[in-house]
Amino acid sequence: MTSPASGTDIASALPDYAPVPRSAVGPALNDQGYYVGRVERNLYWVTDGSYQSAFLTTKDGVVLFDAPPSIGGNIRRAVDEIASANGVSNKVTHLVYSHHHADHAGASSLFDKNVVRIGHEETRRLLLRDNDPARPAPEETFADRRTLKIGGERIELAWRGPNHSPDNIYIHFPDHDALMLIDIVNPGWAPISMCNLSEDIPGYVAAPAIALDYPWKHFIGGHVTRLGTRDDVTLHQQYMADIDASVRKALVSVDPTPFFQKYFDNPWAAVSALFEAWTDAGAAPVIEKYTGVLAAADVYTRSTVFWVMESIRLDLGFGSYVHP
Ligand SMILES: [Zn+2]
Repeated sequence: MTSPASGTDIASALPDYAPVPRSAVGPALNDQGYYVGRVERNLYWVTDGSYQSAFLTTKDGVVLFDAPPSIGGNIRRAVDEIASANGVSNKVTHLVYSHHHADHAGASSLFDKNVVRIGHEETRRLLLRDNDPARPAPEETFADRRTLKIGGERIELAWRGPNHSPDNIYIHFPDHDALMLIDIVNPGWAPISMCNLSEDIPGYVAAPAIALDYPWKHFIGGHVTRLGTRDDVTLHQQYMADIDASVRKALVSVDPTPFFQKYFDNPWAAVSALFEAWTDAGAAPVIEKYTGVLAAADVYTRSTVFWVMESIRLDLGFGSYVHP
């Protein structure tokens, strides 16, 4: 058991970071720890300050988009609050999964088994594989595109290749001027660890341009405290482009020779030290440029730089050396 004194010691030893810019701060949470707001007309979003989900109230019931477990029971409370304020049904009839990850889908089982779950066919395959009772697999699936018409509302689902995960989809609300795309852009904030823990970095880097090809004004990114704008997505693109350019510069300017001289009998030590040096060189100018612009740029840029660097080396073959 941790005593309060040692807890204080741990806290006081933690590093300080740059203040969170005002532009990264969203609406305050209520006493129950959530905020629900209107995106446009009958499309709403819910946040706990870290995660986001969304729902449409229709004449036949409520369509829910993602069920993050951290919001959990507050999804139900948010739906009830809006439905009673507007005098519409609070019955959740459909749940659309953005992708299979537990942190966005793990409260799915709070909704009864009569809810129609919809997702990409790969989401179904992965959820059947993972066999988590909190996340029932979607029984309605699609491969590339699917238009949902539910209670007089139109929702366009599209899979445009792997990015953050193999199954992450674009959820477009053409009649609500909104796009939901999870775990790519965190409006106002740097991505967390390694490009928001993304699996396919060329796909992750390409996704914002695909998002901007859709017409929309409101962006639901799945994380942090507020909705996004087109400018947020453009700023994220610029951040990733700056990381790309900085990494390429670091890869050609840091000479590997001294690392292998020092650790001539331990190649993993040499590689580890070289990766650190490449990452430091790639991250420094980006951290300087984006501190105060994107919240937590000083916390997480280094991690994202490392992951982009490995993708530039391994996916794109940049700097690949063929022994003569
Ligand atoms: Zn995810």
